[in-house]
This record gives sequence, C-alpha cells and structure tokens, in this order.
Amino acid sequence: MPRGAKTPPRHLADLSPAERKEAVAALGEKPFRARQLSQHYFGRYEEDPAAWTDIPAAARGKLAGDLLPELMTVVRHQTCDDGDTRKTLWRLFDGTLVESVLMRYPDRVTMCISSQAGCGMNCPFCATGQAGLDRNLSTAEIVHQIVAGMRALRDGDLPGAGATGTEGASRTEGAAGPARLSNIVFMGMGEPLANYKRVVGAIRRLTDPEPDGLGLSQRGITVSTVGLVPAIHRFADEGFKCRLAVSLHAPDDELRDTLVPVNTRWKVREVLDAAWRYADVSGRRVSIEYALIRDINDQAWRADRLGRLLRNHRAHVNLIPLNPTPGSKWTASRPEDERAFVAALEAHGVPVTVRDTRGQEIDGACGQLAATER
Ligand code: SAH
Repeated sequence: MPRGAKTPPRHLADLSPAERKEAVAALGEKPFRARQLSQHYFGRYEEDPAAWTDIPAAARGKLAGDLLPELMTVVRHQTCDDGDTRKTLWRLFDGTLVESVLMRYPDRVTMCISSQAGCGMNCPFCATGQAGLDRNLSTAEIVHQIVAGMRALRDGDLPGAGATGTEGASRTEGAAGPARLSNIVFMGMGEPLANYKRVVGAIRRLTDPEPDGLGLSQRGITVSTVGLVPAIHRFADEGFKCRLAVSLHAPDDELRDTLVPVNTRWKVREVLDAAWRYADVSGRRVSIEYALIRDINDQAWRADRLGRLLRNHRAHVNLIPLNPTPGSKWTASRPEDERAFVAALEAHGVPVTVRDTRGQEIDGACGQLAATER
C-alpha cells in the first residue's frame, strides 16, 4: 500500500480459514461461527445478516460489523453486445474508483477484474496507465468483485442476448437466464504481480473449496503481467495451475522499451525465459498478448521475429486489435496486416488467435478501463 494511503477495512475475504476462527473468537463468539459466516459469504453470496438464520440474532450484527464491512458500492452498470457484456464502476470505501467487466459467451462466462486502482506501469497505449497508480486493492476488494459477479449471474441480472432470442437457434442452451462464472482474467485495471501478496491471497479465496472459498478452478484463472520477472518466478513457485499471460507487444527490446516501459528493466529474453519456466512448472501454455498497433508493431519482420522466439515453446499468441484510447494517435492494424501477422506466426507453427474485443462502445475493452465518473 503506498505510504499515507488509507487501508481498506479488514474483511472475511482477507483472512485464511484459521484467521477467521481467531477473529470470531476475539469477538467472544464460538469459532464454528467462522465457518457459518464463510458459508453465507462464499457459498451463498449472502451479506444480509437478517438472512443468517443459523446464527443467533444477537451475534449477527457484531459479526457483520467486524467481518463483513461494506467494501464497495456500485456507481453504475453499463451493458452492451446485446446484453452479453456488462461493465461495473465501483466506488471503494475511500472514494477510489475501479472497474470490472462480465462477458457472457454461449459456452462460458468470463469476468475481467482489477487488482489495483490505476496502474503504475505507464504503457502509452493503455488508458489505465495514463493516470498512474492510485493504490493497491486489498485481497477482499479483489475477491468481492467476483462475489458480486457470481451473485449477479446466479440471480439472472445478466440474462444474455440468448434471452431476447436475437440469435435463437445459433445459441447453445444455457446462453440465457442464470449462469455460472467459468473464467477469471486479471486483465482489468492494474498490474497484478505488482500487488503480489494480495493477488495470491485472492487466488486462494477464489479457488479454495466451499465454504473456505468460492470453489473456482485454478485452470480458469489467468494472471496477466507486463513481465515483472522476479514476481513471475515467485508465482511459478506457488504451484498454482493458473494460466500466465505475458503482455509482450513487441519481439525486440528497442520497441518494447517504449511500449512497455518496464522492459528497460527486464528484457524480452528474460521475460520469455521466466514465462517458459512458468509453463514447465505449471504445465500450462503461456499466453503471449500482442496488441496490434498500425505501423508500430505489426510489420512482417516483427511477426517473423516473434515466431522465431516462440516456436517450440509452450505458447499461444493472443492478438488484440488495439482499442483506441482518448488522445492517442495510435489505432488498430489494417485487416491485411493482421492477416499477414497471423500467417507469419502460423508458418512457425505457433498457435495464434485474434481476440474478439468485447465492450468497446462502453469503454470496457482491453486497455480502456479508466474508471472516471462522467
Ligand atoms: N497489467 C497487466 C494486466 C492489465 S491489461 C498487463 O499489462 O498484462 C490487459 C491486457 O490489455 C494487456 O495485455 C494490455 O497490454 C492490453 N491492453 C492495454 N491497453 C490496450 C489497448 N488500448 N488495446 C488493446 N489492448 C490493450
């Protein structure tokens, strides 16, 4: 936490199961109440003490006040893509703003969450980077974005385009009505590995079985990083089965130094070596993120160079057509350049996909999260 910043209130989701028991005991309550509280929060997303009927009424207010303080409130929801994408602007206890995005697909639901308010990495093509870092989010502030998303999906608040019948037959069953969260990507605001301890704590809460946590699969979680090499090594040693995404954006140090300024500290070579070690330890293919920027990083020779760096490694390239951000002179690549880039990677046998950019018109796509009140 930057010095002088106010610390978010302590919350059940900040604590390990053992720490929850201690916290409950410190209130003079039986330790098993910790498990009951966890069941309400992680199992049913139920924060209203009135609904905790297995806990004596007299104890509920005390437990709620101490362990489930209000962490954030919704400023607004914005929806697009026929109701399949919803961005939420949150106000945290100290007035700080962050955003999260829910994306519903016929066969899965992905939530993109923030790990920091703002970002200190200063990538010039990313809206979040332009205002700098506000502060780290606490573990509970990260987890609560997902709890709120899972509750919304369960309650049918994001019914999906299938619900209006717009594409009817082409949609698979389950594309309308309530849904379950399948994937989480740390691709909202912030650099997750720069808020290491709290992000790792959040991954534990997300993946611990109910009622200790939300019971989500580690394989469904993607942590995206600019390439903080020591933190990638440390993350590999946690033993998670999460996917690692590395925001490469250029195969050469000269250009990457300008697009991802932290590259002046850790070079392409070192970042990729750390990524390959992560792939070995986790058994997961690493996702290489590459925002295609017209005439900046989309030349045929760069595609070829990228292919040479990645071939014969456990990698998958995710090309992201650049989403324009306010005031930037850059734009997405021409379709023919994008096609040639894909073909050059495929010629090296490197798997590649072009990301479908959801949420553009609500400034909810990659790199557009600025969390401003308008
Ligand atoms: N700090 C982390 C996670 C947040 S950004 C990281 O950099 O990986 C998630 C992804 O969106 C990153 O790959 C980032 O480089 C990319 N991105 C940022 N701005 C973008 C933009 N304007 N258009 C397309 N992708 C962008």
